[in-house]
Amino acid sequence: MEVKPDPCGVVIFGASGDLTHRKLVPALFEQFQRRLLPETFFILGCARSELDDQVFRDSFRQYLLSREVTAGAAEEFLKHVYYLSGSYEDNALYKRLSERLTELSEQEWTAGNCLYYLATPPSLYTTIVSGLGLAGLTSQESGRWARVVVEKPFGHDLASSRKLDSALHQWLSEEQIYRIDHYLGKETVQNIFILRFANAIFEPIWNRRYIDHVQITVAETLGVENRAGYYEQAGALRDMFQNHMLEMLSLVAMEPPATFEADRHRDEKVKLLRSIRPFSDNGLGDWLVRGQYAAGAAQEQPLPAYRQEKGVNAESQTETYVAMKVMVDNWRWQGVPFYLRSGKRLAKQVSEIAITFKSVPHSMFGKIAPERLQPNVLTLKIQPEEGIALTMEAKRPGPRMCMSSLTLNFSYRDAFGERSSNAYERLLLDCMVGDQTLFVRHDGAELAWTVLEPVINNWQTSVDNCPLEFYEAGGDGPQGADRLLTNDGRRWR
Ligand code: NDP
Repeated sequence: MEVKPDPCGVVIFGASGDLTHRKLVPALFEQFQRRLLPETFFILGCARSELDDQVFRDSFRQYLLSREVTAGAAEEFLKHVYYLSGSYEDNALYKRLSERLTELSEQEWTAGNCLYYLATPPSLYTTIVSGLGLAGLTSQESGRWARVVVEKPFGHDLASSRKLDSALHQWLSEEQIYRIDHYLGKETVQNIFILRFANAIFEPIWNRRYIDHVQITVAETLGVENRAGYYEQAGALRDMFQNHMLEMLSLVAMEPPATFEADRHRDEKVKLLRSIRPFSDNGLGDWLVRGQYAAGAAQEQPLPAYRQEKGVNAESQTETYVAMKVMVDNWRWQGVPFYLRSGKRLAKQVSEIAITFKSVPHSMFGKIAPERLQPNVLTLKIQPEEGIALTMEAKRPGPRMCMSSLTLNFSYRDAFGERSSNAYERLLLDCMVGDQTLFVRHDGAELAWTVLEPVINNWQTSVDNCPLEFYEAGGDGPQGADRLLTNDGRRWR
């Protein structure tokens, strides 16, 4: 049953930016149309650009009208949208913000509850939170709540992530901080939990006795687009692995929590991250491959190399692709490799988790050796199609004993007849009801950095430790990624 959120205001810092326009306000509008927002609410955009309420509303109007299901919904929603401009470094902004919030809270009946969303470059997070703190806006006195959503990246490495956390904790308790990883808001990612723990058939075989290996793939067709400034500093390891990839690995591999409470759930994820075998400083190449896209083509259109993209250094060593083999040292997973890969400018856009089971122990089908029978594979499809597929062997019709692999397919869209919620829709509502289950706790973020830090240090010492392999834009990624599996007698699916 959906819990109706408390009345509240949503203050978005960085409101003139891409995330606000493409994801946040559209997500809030969808929830408004579905009557899932609180009875009373307002949205206050805040950024340096000198806009007023009207111009800010106009910047969304066309898109919202195109998404309107009921006539007049867009205009009704926009009536609750406001704007305040100012410099994030200027304490006067927070004083004006405080006054504006008092006015809007009375006008819109939101009881002083406020969700602050940091949709700015990460370098501004601590400035904004201390501005809010000094103005008394992080206080939860008189029954009102104040929560802060922090966008990824949570720091640039372990030290900066700790520094960010201690700066946030100066003004906020951990219960007030919502570190968002939008992958956790996707239906299929949440469904991993239901699939594993609400069905009796999977858990008994979800271990080293029955599972041969797991593959997690997030492939993008897009290149760096207009985010070169950020991406040059980050690269695929920081951009995808510190958060989405390790989060998905945790969900697939964690132990069942006793209850579906936020902290019990996050305790188990943290335990799993602690069990990841540290990457050795030497011989990293056997465990990890880093690539960068070279010029290529897609649908007969030429695609530039990463180094030719606007804002990218012509000799950039930034990786746009990483594949790695991860071992989890606990009883359940000893000896089962988890292969993770993610990259930009690949042939197709796909996010999925494929769990390959062991082959049958003995083949009674004449000359067919057990290892030549296709193993069962359970694929959790996250993007673009959301669903689950299970491949299995079946007898082909006919007089002879021939078999073929077939796939049982479940599609979210076909099964439930409605579109899945966008990840931001779900996560924004969770913030409003105060449910942190799908948000990253400070120890989880730190542990993810701890896992990756040796790799980052190794690359910083010398790029020769794990040299960049170039791959064709629009292709399948570096050949080294294939070798990572063929060395183990396996292949990517
Ligand atoms: P933008 O680069 O579009 O920046 C958002 C706003 O912040 C800008 O409109 C600008 O507003 C302000 N800003 C930008 N640079 C500076 C600066 N140097 N000093 C002060 N203000 C600045 O970012 P996005 O909207 O793309 O992303 C926001 C956050 O969300 C980032 O941390 C990003 O990593 C994260 N994120 C974004 C995703 C996306 O799809 N866009 C996906 C996942 C995470 P103004 O000048 O008006 O103040």
